[in-house]
Amino acid sequence: MEFRVGQGYDVHQIREGLPMWLCGVQVPSDRGFVAHSDGDVAIHALCDALLGALALGDIGHLFPDTSDEFKGIDSKILLGRVMEKVRGLGWSVANADITIALQAPKIAWLVPAMRECLAGVMGVDAGAVSVKATTTERLGFVGRGEGCEVWAVVMLQK
Ligand code: MG
Repeated sequence: MEFRVGQGYDVHQIREGLPMWLCGVQVPSDRGFVAHSDGDVAIHALCDALLGALALGDIGHLFPDTSDEFKGIDSKILLGRVMEKVRGLGWSVANADITIALQAPKIAWLVPAMRECLAGVMGVDAGAVSVKATTTERLGFVGRGEGCEVWAVVMLQK
């Protein structure tokens, strides 16, 4: 059996009056992410991890933010397209592990729904998808509530 590891990282700015999407789930909040797409910073990091594992570039290269095709797009669609590439090359996801750094609101209660959602799009068991949420103890741009930072790691197998 062959294995590949990929890691992804993304940051989005937070602003009043925008929707907040994380791992395909809308977080109840009066503030959300500034983005060309729906701003799902967690899915973007996950896509970059999947692409990174296969040295296929990055999400910005695949889905340019200058293209009207991707304006406001549901990031689950982007993840689905990345998964088509992964599967097309004969790979499947062994597991994924995502860490979300967000000061507020609290999102731990949404983690089960987030795992189910990502697992559904990736075609794997929810047991293979980990989502972890942390604050930064009010330090830095995350701690000041200016942005959200996400790291993702995936392992692929074939
Ligand atoms: Mg992004």
